Amino acid sequence: MQNKKLSVLIVDDNSLMLRQVDIILRQLGVEQISFAEDGMSALSQIDGERRIDVILLDLNMPDMDGVEVMRHLAMRGYQGGIALFSGEDSRILRTAESLASVHQLNVIGALSKPVTRLALQNTLASFQPQQTAKNFNAIEPVTVEELQFALDKLQIEPFYQPKVRVPDKRLRSVEVLARWRHPEKGIIPPIAFIPVAEEQGLIDRLTNVVINQAAETFGRWLAAGFDFNLGMNICADSLAHVELPENLAAIAKRHSVPCERIELEITESRLVQNLKTSLDVLTRLRLKGFGLAIDDFGTGYSSMSQLSHVPFTELKIDRAFVHDAHKDSAAYAILESAVELAKKLDMVTVAEGVENARDWQTAADIGCDLAQGYFIAKPMPAADLDRWLHEQKRS
Ligand code: C2E
Ligand code: CA
Ligand code: CA
Repeated sequence: MQNKKLSVLIVDDNSLMLRQVDIILRQLGVEQISFAEDGMSALSQIDGERRIDVILLDLNMPDMDGVEVMRHLAMRGYQGGIALFSGEDSRILRTAESLASVHQLNVIGALSKPVTRLALQNTLASFQPQQTAKNFNAIEPVTVEELQFALDKLQIEPFYQPKVRVPDKRLRSVEVLARWRHPEKGIIPPIAFIPVAEEQGLIDRLTNVVINQAAETFGRWLAAGFDFNLGMNICADSLAHVELPENLAAIAKRHSVPCERIELEITESRLVQNLKTSLDVLTRLRLKGFGLAIDDFGTGYSSMSQLSHVPFTELKIDRAFVHDAHKDSAAYAILESAVELAKKLDMVTVAEGVENARDWQTAADIGCDLAQGYFIAKPMPAADLDRWLHEQKRS
């Protein structure tokens, strides 16, 4: 595509940088250029009327960093080109690139700062015109009213995905993943409604609906003699509610589930933003016996030392560093050091996104305790997991 016709958005918190890149782009013949000084304003431009073919995205920004912007772009199914730039070393850039490709974003380049004319020219040249066909794919955002209705009608139900021990493939726990069983549209994945629930203040209600059903079903599995734990996803914002530990303990008790059987998974990036206020609630959850897992580790910028102050029991390493890690030395290195550090802190390690035998081998080579992914089993409804459990028992 001719540079003249390209519409480019530059996202960087440094206004000097915005001006420099603007000058280079104009020299390269780009005429439609827009700017954003933070992630929020970038997203509102993406949501706007104007088509944006290419986003030049800075990774290090205060408030919402580039990695989080990418996650939001993925949720919107953004199909335009994305080039990442960062002042950090090239390893971070490469890792962010693999993260982006996991999210199925169309990454067309990684640029180290200071950005040169040649590098930018090459990046723009690798952008293919057919990819501009549309910016957005099929994930239709749902409205608050629709979601409220779904919660009232109990259309949101838990699916379950096994996590197994790497040494012997034995089941260690199942993770609860919400699904919306829509009467006309079929099964809707959480990416279509969890962000809406979080933004519209419905997430606590949603958590309640999911957890109540899961705890009831899980209580029955325990009563039938099965021996595994239950993993639940908790939105980091919910950790601001001081009554959360008591509420969760009450639900567990109602279904005769010991709190020790429940592992709460909290996403790393959101956690760090709220770490101080959450510490009280996290500590009390731990005191009640709940396990605490850091989810999607590697996708935020937290250091292990920050996290070591919280009594976490489990580290779940994001699939960006697991799936195909054998082909990507930066991802492999991150996976290795995450496992090593977690062991020092006495945490159980989980490799997420184990999709094939090669990924499984990687998890085993590196010494991950547990693995989760399509290679073992996909998330499934309670009835299917029930069958899976009985098959496992027989074999
Ligand atoms: P997550 O907690 O990181 O969950 C893992 C996601 O990876 C799930 O997507 C799962 O289906 C998917 N997955 C599992 N194995 C593989 C694999 O081998 N390859 C690939 N490519 N993907 C795999 P899902 O179910 O679409 O959930 C997306 C996210 O939505 C979850 O990410 C979690 O953050 C959130 N979520 C789901 N249910 C709930 C819930 O009840 N409450 C809250 N707060 N968040 C939820
Ligand atoms: Ca999770
Ligand atoms: Ca995860």
